[in-house]
Parts: sequence; structure tokens; C-alpha cells
Amino acid sequence: MSVGRAVAVGLFVVGIALGSFTDRLPERLPQIRGGYRVLQGDFHLHTRFSDGFLSPMDVVRCGERQGLDVVGITEHNNLLPSLVARAFSSATGGPIVIAGEEITSRDFHLIALGLHDTISGRSPLPAAIAAVHAQGGVAIAAHPVRRFWSLFQASAAELDGAELMHPIVFRRRSSDQGWSWQDLVEFYQSVHGRPFAAIGSSDYHFFKAVGLCRTFIFADGADEDAVLRALKAGRTVVRDLEGKMYGDPLMVGLLEKEPLPAPAEPSYAPESLLDAVGRTIGWLGLLGLVILGKTRSTRA
Ligand SMILES: [Zn+2]
Ligand SMILES: [Zn+2]
Repeated sequence: MSVGRAVAVGLFVVGIALGSFTDRLPERLPQIRGGYRVLQGDFHLHTRFSDGFLSPMDVVRCGERQGLDVVGITEHNNLLPSLVARAFSSATGGPIVIAGEEITSRDFHLIALGLHDTISGRSPLPAAIAAVHAQGGVAIAAHPVRRFWSLFQASAAELDGAELMHPIVFRRRSSDQGWSWQDLVEFYQSVHGRPFAAIGSSDYHFFKAVGLCRTFIFADGADEDAVLRALKAGRTVVRDLEGKMYGDPLMVGLLEKEPLPAPAEPSYAPESLLDAVGRTIGWLGLLGLVILGKTRSTRA
């Protein structure tokens, strides 16, 4: 290797190392409203164990970077990835991971959280919900668009909540192949007179971001059990694209009175002098590699 290329490689490696060293997540202070800790959660995330892209560990890291306190890994009819994610997150000080799965059948999809055993996708909906509850878990109607309504309505008294925010909210035409976001709002609003958790979830597979849609949870602690208790009690709020809030009216009132701090605006600007130096060195190294590499290949 020529001296020039060795210097370029060195600069590039030092740039990457400095960038990694200075890349720190902004500190987030605990948010207390009405005596509850307000946690941000995304309860519907897939991994490469089925039709997703990232590993369970990557999903946990992405959730952390997106300011999530809680992630629910919900693979299709498979609990294992969420257990892997939970072990990884607790070993590395990451977000709370709720073990779960998306119980997936031809007729319905059900988000099951707080499980310790896998539940088959072959069970009819009432049996699936009963199996979730028998494990002390929470059963949430996944993307309840109109074509799933008849089954979900028949079991509405047993459900603990329903997804109200979901990436289908970004679809241009509300009638897109029967995937209308308005259906989710109507289904949530059709359940009255008892706690019923409004859920915002990203149904993350690959293109859109983890945490794109999220749930604000009013928890009496900061662990998996506290999150499950809050969901069972319906102490959640979700916000639509216009900022309108849905969920427990008391909790909505608390957030109206004292909103959560706005997330930091994304920016290309360096965060410190060390960050700026690292970026410059890294780019110089990369530029050197490109130029020197090209010169060599021209000679060859
Ligand atoms: Zn689904
Ligand atoms: Zn899904």
C-alpha cells in the first residue's frame, strides 16, 4: 500500500471512530403528567424473522434512536424474536421491550403483548383473545379496517384496545384497496363505556421508520408490567397528523394542559467541535481513497 493510501485509510478510520464516539443520543427527561410517567411506545414492529428487514437487535436500536421508551416486537405467529430483543435490550440498557407477536390469520390480525408462550394463528379470534388474557397479556385489534370489522365487533367486549394510528394514514386515497385510515378511527370510537386503549403503531417492516406512529402511555412505573397495566386500564393517547388527540379523556386533558416537549429538529450541523473535526477527517480520508484508487486503476 502506498504512503498516500495508508494516510487516507488512517484518516477515514479516525473519522469514523470520532463520529461514533461523539454520536450520543440527546438526554430525555422523564415526563410526569397527573402522577403518571408518560412513556412513548411503538407496539407493532416486524423483523427479518418473517417479512421485515432488520434483526430484533436493530429494531431495538432504531426504537431507541427514535426516542421510544417502549417497543413491542410483534412477529407473525412467532414470539421468539421479541424474546431475543428483550434479552438484548435489557443487557444493553435499551428501551423496555414487550414480548409479543402479531397473531396472524386469514380473517384477522391481533397484536398480542405480554406473552410468554407463542399463540397459534389457527385459533378463532375469541379463542386467541382468551389465550392472550390467560397469559396475562393484552389483545389489540391490528389495523381494524372495515373488512375485519365483523369479527372484531363480535369480540369488541374482550379486546383491550385497537390501533388508531398506523402508516395507512399516509396513503393518499382513503379508499386505497380497502385500507382506509378513517375505518380505524371509526372502529376505535365504536367502543364506549369502558377502558379501551387507543394505540398508535408503525407496523414496521422496511421502508417507513420505527416510531413513525406511536402511543403515549401513562404508566405507574417504567417496566414491562407497568406498561401492560396502563394498556389494560386504557391509559393511552395517540395523536393524528393534524395534532388531534384520541384516548382516555383525562390523559388527553393532561397533555393539552402540559404538552410533551417537541422532538429536536433533525439537522446536518455538527453537534460539537470534535464532531466537526471527525466529519472533516473522515471525508478527507474518503476523498483521498477515491483519488488515489482512481490514479492506481488508471495506471493499471
Ligand atoms: Zn397485520
Ligand atoms: Zn404487522
